[in-house]
Amino acid sequence: MQQDYTTLTLPDVQPDLDMNGGFLCSWTYWQPDTAAPDPEVPGLKLSMITYLPVAPAADCLCGSGESYARCCRTLRYWQPVCPSPDLRGFGLLAPRSATFRAVDGAAMRERLMDDARLYCTEDTPDRVFWTLWGEPALESEYGIICFGDIELRNRRTLIVSAMSTPRMAILLDLLAGADDAGLPSPTVEHDPIQVFDKRTRERRELSPRRAGERKPSGWRRKRA
Ligand SMILES: [Zn+2]
Repeated sequence: MQQDYTTLTLPDVQPDLDMNGGFLCSWTYWQPDTAAPDPEVPGLKLSMITYLPVAPAADCLCGSGESYARCCRTLRYWQPVCPSPDLRGFGLLAPRSATFRAVDGAAMRERLMDDARLYCTEDTPDRVFWTLWGEPALESEYGIICFGDIELRNRRTLIVSAMSTPRMAILLDLLAGADDAGLPSPTVEHDPIQVFDKRTRERRELSPRRAGERKPSGWRRKRA
């Protein structure tokens, strides 16, 4: 689920990146929109991709337990990751959304408004939107680091979006704690993953990565 406030993307893959030396890491920041009547609402969302160098003998950031040289280094594209919510590690990019229908939206709204980890960027009868900040919020020169979103539509439908499995787990935990009656089972949708080909530097789309799956389907190891 995409947010409909401004998204900026920078910088794209630089030409001098080491082809087999690391990962591309996806970051999302929130910052006030100083040009808006209310700079805080909805604010600006900034998406950024940075390059993370990794030594061949280091543990692979995908979490496989193998060395980087034996694992993601052999891929034809840079494996995309995002920082884990505690900023102590990384998770493979696996964007997905979970949709809960027929929720008690009024009660849920009240509980989520009280959660210090969430920051509300929109609050209308049709749509309430929260972004997940760290606890405490983690500020950088680009803004506050965001780890996922919760949207309430028409006080009935709750849509949770996250870029990785650990992030989604945190959001679902948070929701479970905010609902006494027990939420209905969500519909989960997995989104395609955007990657950059190491040789052509062009964007490619991989099929969605399911929970628990380390490599997306269609993944192949390049022969050395
Ligand atoms: Zn790996």
